[in-house]
Amino acid sequence: MKNNNVEILDLVRGNIKILEPYSSARNEFSTFDKKMIFLDANENPYGNSINRYPDGYQLQLKLKLSNLKGVSVENILLGNGSDEILDLIFRAFCEPKLDQIITMPPTYGMYDVLAKINDVENIKVLLNRDFQIDTFEILEKMTKRTKLIFICSPNNPTGNLMDKEDIKFILENFDGLVIIDEAYIDFSEAESWIKEINNYNNLIVIQTFSKAFGMAGIRLGIGYANGQIIEILNKIKPPYNVNQLSQNKAIEILEDLDKIKIQIADIRINKRLLQELSEVKLIKRIYPSQSNFILIKVDDANKRYNQLLENGIVVRNRNKEPLCANCLRITIGTQVEVQELIKTLKNISS
Ligand SMILES: *Cc1c(COP(=O)(O)O)cnc(C)c1O
Repeated sequence: MKNNNVEILDLVRGNIKILEPYSSARNEFSTFDKKMIFLDANENPYGNSINRYPDGYQLQLKLKLSNLKGVSVENILLGNGSDEILDLIFRAFCEPKLDQIITMPPTYGMYDVLAKINDVENIKVLLNRDFQIDTFEILEKMTKRTKLIFICSPNNPTGNLMDKEDIKFILENFDGLVIIDEAYIDFSEAESWIKEINNYNNLIVIQTFSKAFGMAGIRLGIGYANGQIIEILNKIKPPYNVNQLSQNKAIEILEDLDKIKIQIADIRINKRLLQELSEVKLIKRIYPSQSNFILIKVDDANKRYNQLLENGIVVRNRNKEPLCANCLRITIGTQVEVQELIKTLKNISS
């Protein structure tokens, strides 16, 4: 271990540590070679391809992911979107009203919402002017009750990657869990932190099928961590949290990785169209992006947001976020969509 050897079991809430998980009919056995008669789960016996409960551990899909990402099946957890996995982490490790987490705004809004839902205090340590981690301030704000630190890289809504050395520093100097949210990692040139999960036992990496993989509609999120953490989260997840249709569709789409790679390359090309936009007066600044969106600073974000709406284009107004005054976050669409956006920006600018 490269870190200070965090004792995971000391971080788990007492009630979760002693919990006997629900034992569903279908996990009392695993697989049989022979054709079985299933009279154990009160299902309708007449086949329609979804009359049976799905595999609660999604083994087939995990094997595919395991091959793709080079991570063992025991180190993978799947959830109903990464939002479910984030929530499971709160519920396993944060004692309501007592424990704290650290987040770094401007960042993904769900961390704060989940902290509120779970009645856990969120200590906010702003990113610095370069949208990087203020490690000194984080050291200052850590207490014995700080259980989780959330790092989003590439960060939403700023689009940049967090400095590797800063992340390492936090992993090595924090006695709680570090959650690195890599929802946008497949758009970036950086290496994922998943290869470090066996070097840092306090590391959880979150990825999703919602962005680069193009499957936001099936709600599928991924958590990667050491076996001990995965086991704890498995114990508290709803038994059948990933439905059969989602599992089937994910396996099907993962068969055609080339198609996904082409889409990612196209999105990168379309992004360049927007990034090279210098002649539009209302744009004050275009921030560099390692994601499938870019943050732009305009003269008046509220006004421009509404004008874009009137022209049938929905973007995300981030004006109220710290360090994001007058900023809009724009997802990179198809070439036609980006061209339409550029045309509209030019029109409303003059
Ligand atoms: C979009 C996004 C997610 C994805 O959430 P899902 O529940 O998997 O759709 C996670 N984290 C960040 C930072 C995101 O922007």
